[in-house]
Amino acid sequence: MLEDKNKQKTSLAELGEFGLISHLTEHFEIHHESTVKGVGDDCAVVSNEDELVVTTDLLVEGVHFDLSYVPLKHLGYKSVMVNLSDVYAMNAEAKQITVSIAVSNRFPLEALEELYSGIQLACKTYKVDLIGGDTTSSTKGMLISITALGTAKKEDIVYRNGAKSNDLVVVTGDLGGAYLGLQVMEREKEVFKVNPQNQPDLESYSYIVERQLKPEARKDIPKLLKELEVKPTAMIDISDGLSSEIMHICTQSKVGCNLFEDKFPLDPQVISTCEEFNLDSTMVALSGGEDYELLFTVSINDFDKIKGNPNLTVIGHITEENQGMNLITRANQSIKLKAQGWNSFNEES
Ligand code: ADP
Ligand code: MG
Repeated sequence: MLEDKNKQKTSLAELGEFGLISHLTEHFEIHHESTVKGVGDDCAVVSNEDELVVTTDLLVEGVHFDLSYVPLKHLGYKSVMVNLSDVYAMNAEAKQITVSIAVSNRFPLEALEELYSGIQLACKTYKVDLIGGDTTSSTKGMLISITALGTAKKEDIVYRNGAKSNDLVVVTGDLGGAYLGLQVMEREKEVFKVNPQNQPDLESYSYIVERQLKPEARKDIPKLLKELEVKPTAMIDISDGLSSEIMHICTQSKVGCNLFEDKFPLDPQVISTCEEFNLDSTMVALSGGEDYELLFTVSINDFDKIKGNPNLTVIGHITEENQGMNLITRANQSIKLKAQGWNSFNEES
């Protein structure tokens, strides 16, 4: 949070656009044969035999991220994760990305180096190639747009619209951590405003803060599904919260669902932080976004293949469309799901 006043600052104008691009991208490695030409020409060239999946996200300072508590390296890393997560949600393998940025003159070269070090770490860890982008100025703030390319065999691609009645609803990892990590950081930011000497103590929140700042896309899940010989009937990644994502699957598949409150996977730190903030952990799991876990449906015949896997939790089942989309509470009550959970955060405020 503290800005280091001694840090070197090189203005972007000193380098010029071309100097800047080659400076930022020169240390990126290429991992895939399919990357025929990366940064440096009018277009990148990619060769493919399989189906190509393509996804884009645009992140705007002040809307999607707040640089007063998000380090630029983390922002770079997370911007890549957001896109890779969408590729994995198609049951595809991510191969290439393009990165476009707009920055105001308030950002020195060193800030972009930080951002790109996070992008580079993500590319290295997830074996994706940076193959191009665009760089321009903005009058205010920073914008980052990343496009990811991935491939999959035609028969392996999983859409949102294939869920069938009686299918099981499965989620990877655990839920709600990223949202609570944000709550903790926002609280610390307020404390910092009042007393800048006060260094935040985030140790007891390490897991949830990491879930917010450094999410990991589930590259392992398409691989795991292949090993288990399970093809989901529908899949989506959890960026906006479980509730709105299952509603996308149900609406597009023309089915209903029952989700069971007592099955939701929650980390102990999520439970304790919910208690501290006086939040309902079920609501946080349903509505807290940015977990970047995968949500999918599988035929009940595949239950034996997935049961007991520590990465996967069955949280409900698909029903006929006319049954609606419901949360079954611990008290065995059925409550209609809303896009923002079953009891919108907005309703309270
Ligand atoms: P053009 O004018 O043809 O769009 P640019 O000068 O914008 O070309 O870009 C030159 C090369 O650098 C291209 O290969 C482009 O994809 C790449 N590039 C530009 N900006 C970025 C960036 N921010 N990150 C990665 N590659 C970039
Ligand atoms: Mg350009």
